[in-house]
Amino acid sequence: MAEDLKGTNNAPEAETDDGFWLYDLKVETVLDGRTPVCRHIEGESFTVEGEALVFGAGQRVSMYALAAVLPLLSAKQRPTNPNDWMSTDAEIACPDPHCGGRFRITRTEKRWFSHAETTGLPDQRSTPYWQKDGSE
Ligand SMILES: [Zn+2]
Repeated sequence: MAEDLKGTNNAPEAETDDGFWLYDLKVETVLDGRTPVCRHIEGESFTVEGEALVFGAGQRVSMYALAAVLPLLSAKQRPTNPNDWMSTDAEIACPDPHCGGRFRITRTEKRWFSHAETTGLPDQRSTPYWQKDGSE
């Protein structure tokens, strides 16, 4: 994936100070004709926005299947080398070997975070990003 790392979102002025970009992700259930064992409904999805998993109304994911995809999400959020498999490979299989369910992870928008608003280090932190005005 040769994605441009600059500019789908406008970074605040603090970009030059202490910030970093993370991709938002869309995680979508795909079957492509395979038979699922778990509850995999093709097209159901959730998004990843910073640390948050965001589910739309009625969207569900098997916790067993989710366990397979969770460890990869934080790496997929970060810019990676175009030759890294993390950049090119987008589908994660359900851990049940008899199940045809998969998750397709797509990088969408980029979101800017301040180090001081996201770190737990006492001497470096400020108000957490999610407590700022306008945050969800
Ligand atoms: Zn499954």
